[in-house]
Amino acid sequence: MHCPFCRHTDSRVMDSRATDDGSSIRRRRQCPECGRRFTTVETASLSVVKRSGATEPFSRAKVLVGVRKACQGRPVTEDDLALLAQRVEETIRSQGSAEIDAHEVGLAVLEPLRELDEVAYLRFASVYQAFDSLEDFESAITLLRAERDALGEEPQGRMPAGNAGSDAAGPS
Ligand SMILES: [Zn+2]
Repeated sequence: MHCPFCRHTDSRVMDSRATDDGSSIRRRRQCPECGRRFTTVETASLSVVKRSGATEPFSRAKVLVGVRKACQGRPVTEDDLALLAQRVEETIRSQGSAEIDAHEVGLAVLEPLRELDEVAYLRFASVYQAFDSLEDFESAITLLRAERDALGEEPQGRMPAGNAGSDAAGPS
């Protein structure tokens, strides 16, 4: 490892420690030439295989390009976006492969984006999953509603059965 100060071609590792989640290792290094110290962070490389077959390093910034577009005009902050990109990377890294399909990156975006903003989610899904009709939107929305209901949020309509009696006042 080059010294970033004097470009000396070697450096000495003084200390290595894994980050809390074990996903990377930080090393304190010292240059034997100029004596200055610096830190390097080592993570497993993660490549994204594009549809063309070409690979490129995973990049949170690239993930954010599509997501940011979907969030235009929505109450979503840069912090929200940074957190989302971090979750996406963590999800992908937790799968343990060094190479993933670009498609899987999109998949990993859907869940955290849905939690963040449902409208942005629909926009993103419509591009990512190539919606081409109103029916595609309808089924995505139906799915969103079903999942929202499953989470027990504002159950709508549908009074419980056994609500009889309201008609009982009528003449018989
Ligand atoms: Zn140096």
